[in-house]
Amino acid sequence: MTSSASLDVLALAAHRDDVEQTCGGTLLKMAQGGYRTGILDLTRGEMGTRGTAEERAQEAAEAARLLQVSWRRALDLPDGRVENTWENRLKIARVIRETRPRVLILPYWQGRHPDHYTTSILGYEACFLAGLSKLDLAATRLQVEPLDPHLAAFSAELEPHRPFKIVYATLYYDVRPGFVVDITAQFETRLDALLAYASQYKDQEPGKDLFPARAEVRGRVEALARFYGMLVGVTYAEPFLQKEVGLVDDLTAIPVKSI
Ligand SMILES: [Zn+2]
Repeated sequence: MTSSASLDVLALAAHRDDVEQTCGGTLLKMAQGGYRTGILDLTRGEMGTRGTAEERAQEAAEAARLLQVSWRRALDLPDGRVENTWENRLKIARVIRETRPRVLILPYWQGRHPDHYTTSILGYEACFLAGLSKLDLAATRLQVEPLDPHLAAFSAELEPHRPFKIVYATLYYDVRPGFVVDITAQFETRLDALLAYASQYKDQEPGKDLFPARAEVRGRVEALARFYGMLVGVTYAEPFLQKEVGLVDDLTAIPVKSI
């Protein structure tokens, strides 16, 4: 299946299940609003303590179905070794040209895990390259996971392209967001998408606490979503930052009560 249609929103992340944790509700909300959404995972999870890369591929496809994304792929960057190299920038630039997103969601540029903050810089620099008209990406080969047949493929026209807007998902880092997206109506499905990674989250024997069991995952995810929701007066929300200054036309239409 091929299509020359472009994505409205592409979320880029280091690991499978990052998007489900940081901006899955937002992606689902956009899809429910009629937008075409996609996810690019840079690694396949082969270094994960639990589960194989194959198991995580099946889980990622199920999570994609729940979040109603039109497109999802995983590149072949080594798990735990996401590096900002020329080759990696070219690979991501090629995906940007193929999928032509209007909005790109990147991880926040600081964090505990080097893969996360490196993905942020790598994604930004790839967008810059993707817009250079003299850069030929036809020879850049992408080693990608086989596509789930119900997810759309794109024709490789490879014309220069940059996303209009880049926003950063900040959930992994303790930083005050610039805006949040109300995901109250999407929260339960977004939680299901995260729990689709059964190899990571299934209940296990007591005494082993490396990965939290389902009930604990639910409690943690809900507490964070409630916190960000509380900041703007909704039940559940996901946090973001943009580097640009916001633009307002009508002062009387600015949401979120001050007093
Ligand atoms: Zn991660």
